[in-house]
Amino acid sequence: MDCLFCKIVTGDVPAKIVREGARTLAFRDINPQAPTHVLVIPKDHHVSVAELAAADPELLAEMLREAHEVAVTDGIADTGYRVVFNTGPQAGQTVFHTHAHVLGGRGLNWPPG
Ligand code: AMP
Ligand code: ZN
Repeated sequence: MDCLFCKIVTGDVPAKIVREGARTLAFRDINPQAPTHVLVIPKDHHVSVAELAAADPELLAEMLREAHEVAVTDGIADTGYRVVFNTGPQAGQTVFHTHAHVLGGRGLNWPPG
């Protein structure tokens, strides 16, 4: 399967790894939209958060625990951060291996554009 994030898991595509869990990986977004912009992914391939929630809810919970640890590591757990799952083309999903965006380190607009 030709999946960019599976290649990051295998090391075939380089990434700035922030944290590695047993079943998750966190790495810096190549095109950061905030001082902290980290992607948390499951090592297993799942196309969307909805599919992951149905197939392996504990793995989704692990991703969210890892997202919080990323915020702690970057020193933004107390000031606040946002976790975003773009799901489907109209929401801007471009990589169909589910990923949580962890964004923070600046004021974040609400609602997002
Ligand atoms: P989305 O648009 O929600 O599917 O998010 C995909 C994200 O992956 C975007 O924010 C991209 O900047 C990011 N991205 C694409 N290629 C890479 C890469 N090689 N390393 C890190 N992040 C990437
Ligand atoms: Zn994949």
